[in-house]
Amino acid sequence: MGCFLNGILKLINMRKLAIIDIDGVLCDYPNEVFFNFIFKQINKKFISKDEIISNFGETEYERLKLEYRLSGEKLKIKPKPFAKESLFKLKEQGFEIWIVTSRPRWDPVARHTFLWLTKNSFVFDHLMFIDKKGELKLNSNYEQLIIIDDDYDGLVDYVESENVTLIHFTENQEQKHNKVHTISSWIEFDRLIFNYHTILYKL
Ligand SMILES: [Mg+2]
Repeated sequence: MGCFLNGILKLINMRKLAIIDIDGVLCDYPNEVFFNFIFKQINKKFISKDEIISNFGETEYERLKLEYRLSGEKLKIKPKPFAKESLFKLKEQGFEIWIVTSRPRWDPVARHTFLWLTKNSFVFDHLMFIDKKGELKLNSNYEQLIIIDDDYDGLVDYVESENVTLIHFTENQEQKHNKVHTISSWIEFDRLIFNYHTILYKL
């Protein structure tokens, strides 16, 4: 009996954790809001970061990016379709949700990031500003760990972790590692995670 109870207690204590990036995952990156801001500043329409850099150089690009970050324009960015719903489903299934971004920690960026998440009704437990995602220390044993990032380098350090589902959010469908899933929309995430669960729970 004691053994049985221990087993149950162990199950209850096992945590489910989802680690989710913002830029390129919860919203497009770069996006229209940024390009419109650049247009207002220098009266030229761009469609990629590289294009801005090759026209104005790295220093000017960084200056524009800083102005953009200070402007509060980021609050206007639209979330990717069904991102909010997927986070809600994760929460319903007992996942702890950590939003982990490499945006800078200083204000107003940090404050605007928190505001943007709440204004767009994202459910989450923690918001973390971490420059190098791979350095995030995960020391508990997780019943299930999901990590979603548009930056492959943010995922590759976790391929050896136990019970981990690594998801690369990218338009480029080429799979870089057999342990890293590739998705380009939250609908695909839904199919990957929740259909899989439905099957598991039916067993
Ligand atoms: Mg990102």
